Amino acid sequence: MVNLVIWNEFVHEQEDEHVKSIYPKGIHGCIKEFLSDDESLNIKTATLQEKDHGLSEELLSNTDVLIWWGHKAHKLVEDKIVDRVQQRVLEGMGLLVLHSGHHSKIFKRMMGTTANIRWAERGEKERVWVCNPGHPIAKGLGEYFEIDMTEMYGEPFQVPAPDETVFVSWFEGGEVFRSGLCYKRGNGKIFYFRPGHESYPVYYNKDVQKVIKNSIHWVCPEKTSGLWIDRIAKGIDNMERKDPVQPIEVKGYQVDHNYKK
Ligand code: ZN
Repeated sequence: MVNLVIWNEFVHEQEDEHVKSIYPKGIHGCIKEFLSDDESLNIKTATLQEKDHGLSEELLSNTDVLIWWGHKAHKLVEDKIVDRVQQRVLEGMGLLVLHSGHHSKIFKRMMGTTANIRWAERGEKERVWVCNPGHPIAKGLGEYFEIDMTEMYGEPFQVPAPDETVFVSWFEGGEVFRSGLCYKRGNGKIFYFRPGHESYPVYYNKDVQKVIKNSIHWVCPEKTSGLWIDRIAKGIDNMERKDPVQPIEVKGYQVDHNYKK
C-alpha cells in the first residue's frame, strides 16, 4: 500500500462561491475522489486549518507520498512544519507539488530559488506536450493533451534545471512553460505538475487525473531498504564520532567547537 496524504490550504473553496461551486468538497476532496479507484492507495487528507496543519510527526513518518496544493495562504504555513516536511522528503518521502504550490514555502525550500513565474488569468486553452513518452508519469497519454480553459503560467520559471522535464505547455496567448518537472532531493523524489487553478474545473480533466495518479507512483519511495530516519537531524544523535572506526593516534590541536558569548 502507498500511504498518501493530500494537503490543501483549503481557503478559496471556503470563501469564494464560484470556487466552492466547482470544488464543493475542496480541491483535496476532488483529488481524493478521483484517486479512490486506485486500490493501492491509502488516502488521508490534511488542511492548513488543522493543528500542525494536519501534518503531525506521526502522520508524516508513515507517509510515502505528500501532495501539496496551496495558493493564497503560503505565508501562514508554519516554518516548523516546513522543516518537518523537508526532513521527510530528504529521508525519502515523495512530494507532488501542484500548480500554485510553486510558491509554497516547501517547494521554494526544496528548490533553493524564488520559483517565480509569469501568469495571467484569462481562461486560455493549454496544450500539454509530452517530452518523454517513455516516462512512467506519461503512461497512457498521447503525444499531448489539452485543457480547454486555464490560467496561463509562462517562462521564465525560476527553478533549478530539473533532472527531467516530462511536460511542456503551450498556451493560446503564445507563451510556453515547463509544466512537469522531476527532481531528487536527498532520498526523496519531487514532481512539480503545473495544471490546476481553483476557478476552473481542471482537476476533472481525465488526462490531468491520469498524470496525478502516475506521478504518485513515480515519487513513491522504493521500499527495499526500509524507512530511513535521519537521527542527526532529529537531534537523537550527535554528529561527533567519539570512537574512531579504526585505531588512530590523535594528532594536532583540537579546537573548541562550542560558541560561548
Ligand atoms: Zn492558479
